[in-house]
Amino acid sequence: MTGARATAGDVDETEVLDRDVVVIGAGISGLVTARRLTQAGHSVAVLEARDRVGGRTWSQTIDGSFFEIGGQWISVEQTALKDLLAELGKETFRRYREGDSVFVTPDGVRHEFDGDFPVAPATLAEIGRLVEGLDELAAQMDVSAPWAHPRAAELDRISFATWLSEHSGDPQARRIVEHYIAAGMLTKPAHAFSVLQALLMIASAENFGNLIDEDLLLDERVVGGMQSVSEQIAAELGADVVRVNAPVRSLHWSADGDGAPGEVLAVSDGLRVRARFAVVAVPPNLYSRIDYVPELPRERQVAHQHVSMGLVIKVQAAYDRPFWRDRGLSGTGFASHELVCEVYDNSSPHESRGMLVGFIAGEAADRAWALPEEERRRAILNSFAAYFGEEATQPVASYVSDWGSEQWTRGAFATSYDLGGLSRWGHQQNQPVGPMFFASSDIQGSGYQHVDGGVRIGTDTAARIVEALSERV
Ligand SMILES: Cc1cc2nc3c(=O)[nH]c(=O)nc-3n(C[C@H](O)[C@H](O)[C@H](O)COP(=O)(O)OP(=O)(O)OC[C@H]3O[C@@H](n4cnc5c(N)ncnc54)[C@H](O)[C@@H]3O)c2cc1C
Repeated sequence: MTGARATAGDVDETEVLDRDVVVIGAGISGLVTARRLTQAGHSVAVLEARDRVGGRTWSQTIDGSFFEIGGQWISVEQTALKDLLAELGKETFRRYREGDSVFVTPDGVRHEFDGDFPVAPATLAEIGRLVEGLDELAAQMDVSAPWAHPRAAELDRISFATWLSEHSGDPQARRIVEHYIAAGMLTKPAHAFSVLQALLMIASAENFGNLIDEDLLLDERVVGGMQSVSEQIAAELGADVVRVNAPVRSLHWSADGDGAPGEVLAVSDGLRVRARFAVVAVPPNLYSRIDYVPELPRERQVAHQHVSMGLVIKVQAAYDRPFWRDRGLSGTGFASHELVCEVYDNSSPHESRGMLVGFIAGEAADRAWALPEEERRRAILNSFAAYFGEEATQPVASYVSDWGSEQWTRGAFATSYDLGGLSRWGHQQNQPVGPMFFASSDIQGSGYQHVDGGVRIGTDTAARIVEALSERV
């Protein structure tokens, strides 16, 4: 270890570390960056603001049930995450999916179905047509450079809601397609993000089919929870490398006269790290919480104001047993007008209890937070009951996630640009500033806004720094 204590008087004792790289944020992006750099023989310190690692992946056992409060599912195409799990020796299990799904129409008619949505054939065909059109546009996108789409500026100016109403006269088809991207993925109202942003989400999952089919999208989970991936990486890096309760307040950086990266000093509470490179692995909506000395270039300061977190409430309820299965139901349900607009079986094969997980997205989340706590809980359980009957109102344990009030995240699932932002500023998001690189699942192409994206950008960022370090010796 290279470290020292600088004592300034009796009360102020600041630890000073000298490392090749300082990583800010111990979510999956930061920890994978640190793991790869360490494997390449470089010294690293990871400074994490919270008292835990894992960022937007987090597990808690409450009233005897194990809850995954943040990211948990692995989709079929997320091979970078799967490779990492194999490397770490982690096991996975598949989501329960036997039986019929439930679909509740806006007028309250409840359908149990297997396969296609129980809507009129014309609506089904219209959904297919819209999906095909979006897939065609997404196929023209280089997912690592969405701003270079041949129609980027035009598609970034139109909201997804407007595009859908311009392309279909079938309100139910529009509502269903909108639901997958707006409530299900970007967690913003469809009028608040552009078609280009929607296309990035589609391209990042390879095609719309991978987002529509919940058996592909929500395929597997990690035994022990997704946070345990970060916990294992942090444990292997060791307590000298990963420092929790260490929010980075300021980053002092320099660049050599010819524009080559200089050095960086990360200042936390009672801890400073001097390094040749920094990796800012925090969600882009939090870049501005750090004081950069000197300031970031003008265009970065402006761009950062056009990125914001979506808002979704992940709600879960545990029951003595998965009672819906007795009725031949899979636990999957959709009802775009319900407070809980989608729901899945979230039971673990390692527990006898059954668990349902649901989501309250976008403006519905605003309405839910406006309710008094007990009323909100009742409204959520009544929403579960709309899918699975009265028994759903009697859980033995429940949890309502509140990422919006977490100061080191401030929303869920992830960040995206406002209208026009992606085509205007996206091109600079992955570029370093002097010795500072940026890594987040939210600025990654494949695996965008997912744990898989964090693994990919962590690996890529480490490779770029390894190369840069080799040029500086
Ligand atoms: C409710 C929810 C459900 C989700 N579901 C899924 C899912 O099923 N599957 C999936 O793949 N993805 C899912 N996601 C998304 C996934 O969790 C994220 O994309 C991924 O975890 C982001 O990793 P990250 O390391 O880029 O960022 P983060 O996990 O946000 O990590 C950033 C870290 O930086 C720290 N930090 C912030 N500021 C500072 C500072 N100034 N100094 C030091 N540290 C700082 C934070 O505390 C945090 O630990 C979900 C997310 C949420 C919130």
